[in-house]
Amino acid sequence: MAQRPFIVGNWKMHGTRAMLSEARAIDRAAERMVKVEVALAPPFTLIHATRKEAELIGVGAQDCHYAESGAHTGDISAPMLKDSGAGFVIVGHSERRADYGESDEIVRRKADAVIAAHMNVIVCIGETEAQRDAGEAEAVVTAQLAASLPGAENTAERLTVAYEPVWAIGTGRTPTVDDVSAMHRAIRAKLVELLGEAGQSVRILYGGSVKPDNAAELLSADEVGGALVGGASLTAESFLGIIIAA
Ligand code: PGA
Repeated sequence: MAQRPFIVGNWKMHGTRAMLSEARAIDRAAERMVKVEVALAPPFTLIHATRKEAELIGVGAQDCHYAESGAHTGDISAPMLKDSGAGFVIVGHSERRADYGESDEIVRRKADAVIAAHMNVIVCIGETEAQRDAGEAEAVVTAQLAASLPGAENTAERLTVAYEPVWAIGTGRTPTVDDVSAMHRAIRAKLVELLGEAGQSVRILYGGSVKPDNAAELLSADEVGGALVGGASLTAESFLGIIIAA
């Protein structure tokens, strides 16, 4: 890994203010782990408080609307997230694609909105189990990438890609290191095709059942620049186990 590994915790719909102590503990420990870049994406309701608690780690959001503002009851825009202290936004997570029918086109519009708000974006892509069984995983994932990528001129500077096989999320199952390497090489090649040389520097995270005991192995795969961690980011103890492994 040329750059510092980037380890991002996605708290999903978990966490009330009581969980800020975990964020604080992660932040304190990150001070000693300068070789790793650490970030947390808590629910919207905790972004501002997490930013205040945690001085060193990145703080971001798990989704946003693609519009800047307007009549969209219940939605949150990218500029609002920036205003509340977020430095990045995750878009296109498979749970959003599945639960809300978010298409690549919607994901791309959200990613554009994040960059327009001067934040970094993590674009998630990944195949289902049926697609992998049918031998379509690489084709599906690279097509998703091409259709979900923001179109701004400075996209490469602000972009991180997270490859998360849908069947590995929250299941305890992971692909083999060879499978992760093959997919990440394919994603790298597509990034270079789409963004030119700048595509070489975009970090590609692996996500899906990353735990303290498998993190070192998964992070050793080709072109893996870090991890997007769900369940194991909910306590400082397990999240720090992954950061140490990185
Ligand atoms: P998991 O989730 O680590 O709980 O599998 C990963 C993710 O959805 O980002």
